[in-house]
This record gives sequence, structure tokens and C-alpha cells, in this order.
Amino acid sequence: MPENILIVSNWKMNLDLNNAKRLINNLKKIKFSSNSKITNIVCPQFLLIPYISKLLSFSTIILGGQDCHLKKSGSFTGDSSIDLLKYYNCKYVILGHSERRSQYGETNLTVKKKSEIARANNINPIICVGESIDLRKKGKHLNFIINQLDECVEKNLKDIVVAYEPIWSIGSGVIPSFNEIREVKIESINFLKEVKKIRDIKILYGGSVDSKNINSIIKETGVDGALIGSASINSDEITKIITNVDFD
Ligand code: PEP
Repeated sequence: MPENILIVSNWKMNLDLNNAKRLINNLKKIKFSSNSKITNIVCPQFLLIPYISKLLSFSTIILGGQDCHLKKSGSFTGDSSIDLLKYYNCKYVILGHSERRSQYGETNLTVKKKSEIARANNINPIICVGESIDLRKKGKHLNFIINQLDECVEKNLKDIVVAYEPIWSIGSGVIPSFNEIREVKIESINFLKEVKKIRDIKILYGGSVDSKNINSIIKETGVDGALIGSASINSDEITKIITNVDFD
């Protein structure tokens, strides 16, 4: 088991105020073990953030954003700034999610610039990488992922959090084999250490994680936690995920 386990909830564009409040109240009730290694991070859509931020005062649950703009402010209709994420006490921001890449044309260079502005504001980026099914079948997934890391990640950072999310696993109920996750984890760590000169590296896994597979994913692959979509908005599921990992 890793020293710290990050459980990151990506709520995406889900939950209204009432359901979000209910879910946060349930998460707050979770009793952790005395030596719990879990960091519970919740990433709501932007309009929920001020409300959730209030609900989380005096809580150990950490708030994160699902994206930010790469500039501090300006004429960027529809976008949200890192300053406001910081104001509302967000400590993490998900960057380069495959949905942002495929639906909004987000490039590796954009992700890198967003990562820079997040770090400059003491917000930890969670950099998402992952291959399509086509690349996986052609055996080109590692080259693709290493190139994503090369272009998204700055050099000489103190630490980094990367989420390996194979696109074909997101929302599909299909997960890679433990060997496949382990391979990506090891190759990513080697690259980030040797080429990017980063020492403290956390690799999360994301894609169809649920309360039944979370423990074996973490145990068998040694990843430092999970980025969770659908299961994170189901109160029973996310509670089970967290308690299963905590008491294993
Ligand atoms: C995601 O979109 O980041 C994700 C992991 O989704 P799901 O857990 O639903 O596969």
C-alpha cells in the first residue's frame, strides 16, 4: 500500500445544490481509521464550488476544480480563473481530462500552461493522460502517454500528481489488467524521474473504478489512488470506496 492514497471525485457536470449538499454531508460522516492514509478530494462543477467551499469549512475533505483557464483574467467568455479557485480554497485542479481534450480541443501545451498558473497559485494540478482503444490495440499507448507527459509537464518540479485514465475505460465498466496499469505507472515514473527530474511522483488510476475493484487496483498495481467519475456521485458507492480502502 502507498503511504498516501488520494481519492479524487470528479463530479463532472452533475448534481444540483440539494444533491451536492446531501453527498457532502454523507462524506463528512465517514469515520476514518486512526492511521488513515486517505486524502479525500472532491471536484464539483464551477457553480457549485462557492457553496461546497462553505460546506467544507472545518472539514478534512479537500476541494478541487475540474479545470481552470491558463490566463489570470481577461476576455475568455465562459471560462473560470485560477484566482477564484484559490479564493474558494481549492487545493487541486484536474487538468487535461480526456473530455476536455476531445470536446474542447485542449492540447498538451494548453495543459502545461494551465499547470504553470495553477502551481504559481499553490494549487496542485492533477494531470490526466491516457490512450484511446485504437492506440492500445496498436501497441502505441506507451509512446503516446510518454509524449503527453513530455509536453504537459514542466521540468524540475518538487512533486507531481498524474492520473492515468485510458479513454476506453472511462465510463465503460472495462478496466485494464493490473499488468497494463502497472506498466504505465512504471514507465511514467521512470520518465518523470529521469527526463523531468521530478522526485515525488504520484500516479493515480482512473476509469470505471468502483467499490468492488478499488482495493485490488491499489494493491496489485501500487498506484497512489484513484480519479473517480460515475461512482463518485453515488453516495453509497463513494462511501464504500473510501471505507474499503481505509480499512483494508
Ligand atoms: C473520469 O471521467 O475521470 C472517470 C474516471 O470516469 P468513470 O469513473 O465514470 O469511468
